[in-house]
Amino acid sequence: MNIILFGPPGAGKGTQAKYLVKKINGFQISTGDILRDEIKKDTDIGKKIINDMNDGKFVSDEIVNNLISKIIFDPLKKNRLIFDGYPRSLSQATNLNLLLEKSDQKIDLVFFLNVNKEIIIERIEKRKIEEKRSDDDLDTIVKRYDTYMKTTKPVLDFYSKNINFHEIDGSLKIDQITNKIHDFINV
Ligand code: AMP
Repeated sequence: MNIILFGPPGAGKGTQAKYLVKKINGFQISTGDILRDEIKKDTDIGKKIINDMNDGKFVSDEIVNNLISKIIFDPLKKNRLIFDGYPRSLSQATNLNLLLEKSDQKIDLVFFLNVNKEIIIERIEKRKIEEKRSDDDLDTIVKRYDTYMKTTKPVLDFYSKNINFHEIDGSLKIDQITNKIHDFINV
């Protein structure tokens, strides 16, 4: 089973992805984590993306698509993919479809954790204190939210036509969201 988790930064995608990893014995694919790791290791990619990341801008589709393709073609991860933060643009969604087709896979479920800006700001401010994430100052948070909503809208429209698309109220408690996801997986 392959699953996509959508939602603005701070919607709880990471938390639900970790639940799904255990539930379906899957692999969490967080492009945010992968990109932060490139910066931490100071790789060539890391050097290219650090400014955009710190500005709350999206990293180029080319860079993200390349990083993703290695994971999709990894036989160990086949049909155990949990996407958290990818795809975020129509180009990424089209690329994902192509890679899945080539590797004889498909997306089984898409969850959109929908949360408004006020709640996101509250949550990320809290996370900033707990996790000390450098890209998390308030200005960046708002920029990231706006960029996400604007760029991801066409991607949402793209997936929301399918019957495997489910919108979930992301302002619910973590357990309540998990229960809803759980119900869709067990049908
Ligand atoms: P996240 O941890 O998912 O909130 O992502 C943090 C930052 O990483 C974003 O603000 C973007 O700068 C970058 N990023 C993560 N995923 C993507 C993606 N799929 N496409 C482009 N940029 C991304």
